[in-house]
Amino acid sequence: GSSRNHEHIVMLPLMAHGHLIPFLALAKQIQRRTGFTVTIANTPLNIQYLRSTISTDSNSSEASDIRLAELPFCSSDHGLPPNTESTENLFLDQIGLLFASSQSLKSPFQNLLVGIKEKEGKPPVCIITDVFFGWAVDVAKSVGTINVTFTTGGAYGTLAYISLWLNLPHRKENSDEFNLPGFPDRCRFHVTQLHRFLRMADGNDSWSRFLQPQISQSLKSYEMLCNTCEEIEPEALQWLRNYTKLPVWTIGPLLPQAYLKKSAGSCSIYKQHSGKKPGISVEECIEWLDLHDPGSVLYVSFGSQNTISSTQMMALAIGIEESKKPFIWVIRPPIGFDQKGEFRSEWLPEGFEERMKESKQGLLVKNWAPQLEILSHKSTGAFLSHCGWNSTMESLSQGVPVIGWPMAAEQAYNSKLMVEEMGVSVELTRGVQSNIAGKEVKEVIELVLNKTAGKGLEMKQKAEKIREQISASMWDEGEEIGSSVKRLDEFVRSILLRRREQSL
Ligand code: UDP
Repeated sequence: GSSRNHEHIVMLPLMAHGHLIPFLALAKQIQRRTGFTVTIANTPLNIQYLRSTISTDSNSSEASDIRLAELPFCSSDHGLPPNTESTENLFLDQIGLLFASSQSLKSPFQNLLVGIKEKEGKPPVCIITDVFFGWAVDVAKSVGTINVTFTTGGAYGTLAYISLWLNLPHRKENSDEFNLPGFPDRCRFHVTQLHRFLRMADGNDSWSRFLQPQISQSLKSYEMLCNTCEEIEPEALQWLRNYTKLPVWTIGPLLPQAYLKKSAGSCSIYKQHSGKKPGISVEECIEWLDLHDPGSVLYVSFGSQNTISSTQMMALAIGIEESKKPFIWVIRPPIGFDQKGEFRSEWLPEGFEERMKESKQGLLVKNWAPQLEILSHKSTGAFLSHCGWNSTMESLSQGVPVIGWPMAAEQAYNSKLMVEEMGVSVELTRGVQSNIAGKEVKEVIELVLNKTAGKGLEMKQKAEKIREQISASMWDEGEEIGSSVKRLDEFVRSILLRRREQSL
């Protein structure tokens, strides 16, 4: 439109890979649908990562011109040394660092918004921020705009996460099971589904003292955007809307366009993750997958930050080998070892690597693999996953059933959603402390990869249905007018309408 009508949206994702990527995808989608200017603000290391990601796909069809704004990471008046750059992305384990960085982003972010307002003669039409930055509601108000909170997870996982933190303590009558406000009684939760911070939380610990006000403040946002679609978790969306009392727009799942089309497989988004060091080329991966029968290969990965214990790694290797099923395993040093250090063969059963290479049973990929390329290949039949929301959506968008091994964040609830509501997954185990035996691993792999009968067949059929639903959220008879595309357009109209009313 004309420059007078031109609008600007500013975003602030949490500093973690699993948040940056959906925010960037949302930024691109908004820009494509509206032509608005979109700025993503973040700390220097993450801006560098986003910049490299954007520039590597600048010659693809998803080219965009997203603006990036650098905010200083931790100013010295928050008790942390300046330029603690190397810790920028590790803070999720450290409450002090999370707290300090969240607080220290507040005033630079506000300055950014004030600067835009001065330059353009009006404030951004809205800001879109992560649920961890509750203070953004007040910052938005102070510059005359509104805050929209974007939960990069799905509806079920988001509701569980929010409700768990806001309703402490959970266990009553010394039972290991409990019900959770916001969920119907049939959804029983179990203590082993609480990651360690939540298990220790009583409302007075430092995690609760930080998260509770951030989350409840975030729920005072104007609206909520959720990285899911109406079709795949309609009930959970209703529960989320009832619980938060917010308008929730389903604008996801935000996956690369081409992968949501009917026949995926030909485009490469691998370069999107240029910030990570790949352990294998796309071509090599595809070539290996081509050797195997349709639906026969197990893909194993625990996302961008998690790893398992060394005893678990040993059991996993034994079980996979005994199943005799072909597999691709993205392998990282186990807990307690330098994550950037050299790979050691003693983490695996003796001679494992050589045997897998010789027999062609398995491909071990160190560190980072082209996940979407693998999941969209016809040979891939199951995904042993930590159930991060991006992995979950990537797998289901390709109709690939899941073997769940949730580790942290809201992964246990994504797993619960897939097992109990969708029927597309079985859970192998939870967390890094569980004792699993090779035999259990072997059995679950056999169950899920047997697509001719029983549970395996049922899961495959259900995953196929979800694949169709996800595709319908984007496309309708080849046109980009699926439900989530419509919701995004409606969301944009709602904020424009609000601005118009306000200026009358
Ligand atoms: N990913 C990848 N290669 C890997 C591991 C992860 O491309 O070897 C990508 C994966 O496709 C997904 C993201 O990293 O998009 C992981 O996000 P998710 O929400 O599943 O988990 P998180 O990393 O946030 O725990």
